[in-house]
Amino acid sequence: AEKVLEIKHLTAGFMTDNGIVKATDRVSLHLEKGKTLCVVGESGSGKSVTSLAVMRLLEFAGGAILEGSVNFKGEELSVKSQDEMIHIRGNKIAMIFQDPMSALNPVFTVGDQIAESLRLHQNKSGAEAWKEAVDLLRLVGIPAPEVRAKQYPHELSGGMCQRVVIAIALACKPDLLIADEPTTALDVTVQAQILDLLRRLQNEIGMSILLITHDMGVAAEMADRIAVMYAGVIVEEGTVAEIFDHPSHPYTIGLLQSIPGFEGSRGEELFTIKGTIPALSQLPSGCRFHPRCPHAMAVCQEQEPENISLGDDHTASCWLFKDSGNMPANRGQGRT
Ligand code: SF4
Ligand code: MG
Repeated sequence: AEKVLEIKHLTAGFMTDNGIVKATDRVSLHLEKGKTLCVVGESGSGKSVTSLAVMRLLEFAGGAILEGSVNFKGEELSVKSQDEMIHIRGNKIAMIFQDPMSALNPVFTVGDQIAESLRLHQNKSGAEAWKEAVDLLRLVGIPAPEVRAKQYPHELSGGMCQRVVIAIALACKPDLLIADEPTTALDVTVQAQILDLLRRLQNEIGMSILLITHDMGVAAEMADRIAVMYAGVIVEEGTVAEIFDHPSHPYTIGLLQSIPGFEGSRGEELFTIKGTIPALSQLPSGCRFHPRCPHAMAVCQEQEPENISLGDDHTASCWLFKDSGNMPANRGQGRT
């Protein structure tokens, strides 16, 4: 299948008073056309930095790509100028974030804001842009779109505003939508509606989605593939079926146990992995997860684990699987 996005050995970071701090370390990911890749991890894992690096927005946050490549439909994004990136952002890659209110301009109606996006990216203007803005509001499931188009963001609920943000993103007909925690600020019912909407739009439009989330439940709903990130590295990657049926890395297993009702989760009480994610400036030696890992061995404190194939299009970086071939005895059992 056609790869829309291929990230190879991406190291991105920030200059600080104490030198360079790497927020991602040799991250490799790929996303096929029309599919969804979920990057899952706690806050501070480097998942947002990865998406900002892809969009070359990291520079505006004081960071930079230090190493590696970002290939988007055959084009190398890591070497493009910001002028070239302006054409790609919004035209070919759209991005939506957690807080829809901060993405919308409070002084313009939502219809105007969608029409503006159509004017910028599709050279539509006037009545034509307005009509299409209303159509887009309808497409994203906003009732009475003719009326809503004339309203300001503060007159709409958070869920409605996120639908408007999605409509603005769609106005450029993106090949790739990057969604960073798009439902985290919304209540559970609205969250499910927005996820449904993204799935429906993906089917209708055929766009690829890079979805960043801390929530394994969201990943289960949405993903074709899942990459689990911890402290700047991908610790496990595979198809959604492999990750849920045969979770292998101890961190992934911990994340899955935080889903209520999942085998191994403690009833309604949410399991949380003991300890906290390390500061990027003070990473533990060896495996970055070792201070929190229930299975840590001596080697884990000394050497960074290799990326090991577990077969079936599934990899994990963990010493537990070093000599166990493709069928590690101590892999998690997963869902039943
Ligand atoms: Fe745990 Fe060691 Fe595997 Fe790291 S390499 S996850 S510390 S068992
Ligand atoms: Mg984030």
